[in-house]
Order: sequence, then C-alpha cells, then structure tokens
Amino acid sequence: MSGNSRPTDEARAAVLAAARELSARGLVEGTSGNVSARVDDGHVCLTPSSLAYDAMTLDDLVVVDLDGGVVEGDRSPTTEKALHLACYRAYPEVGGVIHSHPVYATMFALARQPIPAAIEEVSVYIGGDIPVCDYVMTGTDELGDEVAGRLAERAATLLANHGMVTVGSTPAKALHAALVVERTAHIVWGARLLGATHDLPPKVNEDFGGVYRFVRDQRM
Ligand SMILES: [Zn+2]
Repeated sequence: MSGNSRPTDEARAAVLAAARELSARGLVEGTSGNVSARVDDGHVCLTPSSLAYDAMTLDDLVVVDLDGGVVEGDRSPTTEKALHLACYRAYPEVGGVIHSHPVYATMFALARQPIPAAIEEVSVYIGGDIPVCDYVMTGTDELGDEVAGRLAERAATLLANHGMVTVGSTPAKALHAALVVERTAHIVWGARLLGATHDLPPKVNEDFGGVYRFVRDQRM
C-alpha cells in the first residue's frame, strides 16, 4: 500500500466496496462481473481481470483514460472495460458502472424479454422497463456501443445471453440498481407462475420515470 493519499483514492474505495458487495450479494460467481467509477480528473477506476473479489485490494484496481489507456496500476483492467468506458463517454452524469450476471435477470436476458416496470420502485430507480440489448460478443467495442445506446433513459439494461449492466452517480447507486432489477426479475418470474400479471397504470410509470430523470440529472 502506498502511504500517501492519491487523487484516485475515493474512487478506488467506492469501487472496491461495491465489488465486494456485488460478490457477497450473489450477483456474480467467482471473478465474473466488474465495477468502475469515474475519477474527478476524467479518468476511470476499474476492477482488474481475473482476481477474486475477497483478495482484491485498493492497489489492484486500475485507472484508465476514456480510451482505455492504463494511467495507473500494474494489472490488466477488466476485459469488459469497453462497456464501462462507452457509458462514461456517452453520459457525463454517470459516475459508476456495474456489470453483473444475476440469476433471475439473466433468465430474462436468455429469453430476450424485457423486465417490465410492474413495481413502482423500478420506475423510480431504473426509469422504466429494463430493455434487452441485441447479442454482441463480450469484450468488444460494439458491445459497449450497444449497451450505452440502451441507457439514455434507464439505469439498467440486459445483455442478451449474458447478464446486465447498471449505471448510477456512484458505484453504490449502480449496485443498488442491480439489486432492484434482480429482485424485480425474481418477483415477475414468480408472479407469472401464479397467472397473468398486471401492469402499473401508464401515468404512474410516466410520473415515476420523471422522478428518475430528475434524480439522474442532479447526479444524486
Ligand atoms: Zn459478463
């Protein structure tokens, strides 16, 4: 560990805390998934590739510029860095990105079905229904563009046959969005087994979607 504080320390701490929680809450298995935060100077702090979350330290995190060039760190950044960087380039209000493989949300990603905003908190925290990206190979710039394109009005998108990406003003907020989506996917999956489910009135989704937009624009 370095003794002096670095400009990236706050972002490193936020990334590591969210990464550990991501693993502890079962949203990923093993070393899969990845977490990042925007650093004040415009760089991005990312989890490294192929390192267990419980063994990860602040010094294992990697800082890159918006084109992916390593600025600080000895490890390789996550192989899925393109999807993180595409989100930061597209949305200045986004300060945290999380890619995860949660069980129920990924079931919807395999079925290529959006998760409906059938519960009020989904509209408030995610902005509305959670869309499904077209299938694009993991780790490519094309996947980054596809993901970022779905997140203009949403905090979450599913990746066909893969998993999920969530964004927020901080990694903690992106993690909260992932937990809301996974819980909703579980509830909707179960409710459909009970029979036909019902949508919220469109006006409710519209109003709460407006709340999401306001909070996102304020970077709250
Ligand atoms: Zn993945």
